[in-house]
Amino acid sequence: MQGIDFRNNVDGLVDKAAKIAQLDKQVIEVVKCSSAILKTTFPIEINNKIELFTGWRVLHSDHRLPGKGGIRYSLNVDQYEVEALAALMTYKCALVDVPYGGSKGGLKIDPKQYTKNQLRSITKKFAEELIHKGFLSPSLNVPAPDIGSGEQEMGWIANTYKRLHPNDINYAACVTGKAVHEGGIRGRTEATGRGVYYGILELLNYSDEILKTGLSDNKPEGKTIIVQGFGNVGYHAARLLAEHGFLVIGIMEYDCSLYNIKGIDIEAANKYQLENGSLLGFSGAITSIENKNDLLYYPCDILIPAAVEGIIHQDNADKIQAKVVAEAANGPVTKEADIILHKKGIIILPDLYLNAGGVIVSYFEWVKNLSHIRLGRINQHFQAIQGDHICNAIEKLTKKSVFEKTRDTITSGASELDLVHSGLFNSMRDALQSIVKTKHDNNVQDFRTAAFIVSLTKLVRSHENDL
Ligand code: NAD
Repeated sequence: MQGIDFRNNVDGLVDKAAKIAQLDKQVIEVVKCSSAILKTTFPIEINNKIELFTGWRVLHSDHRLPGKGGIRYSLNVDQYEVEALAALMTYKCALVDVPYGGSKGGLKIDPKQYTKNQLRSITKKFAEELIHKGFLSPSLNVPAPDIGSGEQEMGWIANTYKRLHPNDINYAACVTGKAVHEGGIRGRTEATGRGVYYGILELLNYSDEILKTGLSDNKPEGKTIIVQGFGNVGYHAARLLAEHGFLVIGIMEYDCSLYNIKGIDIEAANKYQLENGSLLGFSGAITSIENKNDLLYYPCDILIPAAVEGIIHQDNADKIQAKVVAEAANGPVTKEADIILHKKGIIILPDLYLNAGGVIVSYFEWVKNLSHIRLGRINQHFQAIQGDHICNAIEKLTKKSVFEKTRDTITSGASELDLVHSGLFNSMRDALQSIVKTKHDNNVQDFRTAAFIVSLTKLVRSHENDL
């Protein structure tokens, strides 16, 4: 899908939801437009030759600050794509009650073509450009990882900001998704995948919705999954789903597809990919699917696109045999495909809901950086002592011992990771509840439109106050 189609797609989804909810058309036009766009081209010397790099940062909305959103490293990046992704961030943050405006960045680069040192120079220069031009700071605009970028790049960005602003005590909050030793938070790396898992699990609670799709029951056990994209989001989602009873029968990557009706060993596949740079040749599954892309059309309960946008479109939507399409990637289903899937009775768990785990935990990391203290550091031991008192009191009153496992849980207190998981789970559960309620209240047929209505209603209210 071209970037411009992606952006029009997102605008079209907003218009559809706004019409159904009868939201003020003029305010919706304000909500839709990008607040500020930076395009920057900068030179870096690579192997004694000057190479030019182009990057973008779009601040879609400043109704809340900072603007928040990842930086994508890919040769396919263009301004329209970054605009579409920034807009999605605005709608996503409003949906899950994260107090940020939407933003996104993109650097036109194939990171695999560069050494670590070269990537460091390129990232630091890009960060400098963003900082000098007002598109990167703890209070105005805070990037995070996306396709092609990760902890390493975020660490380099934080370091650049600190060097340029040595007096800013909050420097670590200029970027999220950092390694824990650089001010990151436990659980951020897997947060988007974990959010995908929580979102799918939560959907199963709505029996009246899921039984209509043909799913046999609302239990995870044995529900079959096919994942497209085995990167950060796809791998962690697949791992957690497999750990909790789901059966991951298919994995699609850019160069091959794996299929095993008995379930793929996710940890073994991940290990193989890390060692070999690809899943090609992995022995735990059939890899001889003639056209690797055909796996998208294999029967399964839940299909999880976790790679790039526009993967399910009007020419292939009819072939999808899943009962639920769970959008871990941003924009994997086009507007036209959305209608076709809906007619086939397939539930789509939309991107602005399902992959919000990353920004939710980024929000926790940013709060941690601003408060300069690890979550749980003050109260964990206090909770542990309280738990001990409670267990002792129960034992004294009942003359029976509290089960060892229960005592361990109650007397350990909440660690940073416990709190992150708890906050993420709560946010995903609350957001789906509000989507389902809005779906029923407005007699809306699909989850995506309902999610946009929840989000737009909040955004319109906020923009009206600003006018
Ligand atoms: P990643 O780079 O870690 O992984 C993407 C994977 O998809 C890679 O393994 C790549 O080889 C594979 N891939 C690319 N094109 C493919 C294709 N056509 N067919 C099959 N596989 C393909 O990226 P990620 O961080 O996992 O992001 C994946 C998606 O999730 C993106 O749409 C991103 O915007 C979205 N997302 C990511 C986060 C996050 O925290 N990382 C948060 C929200 C949304």
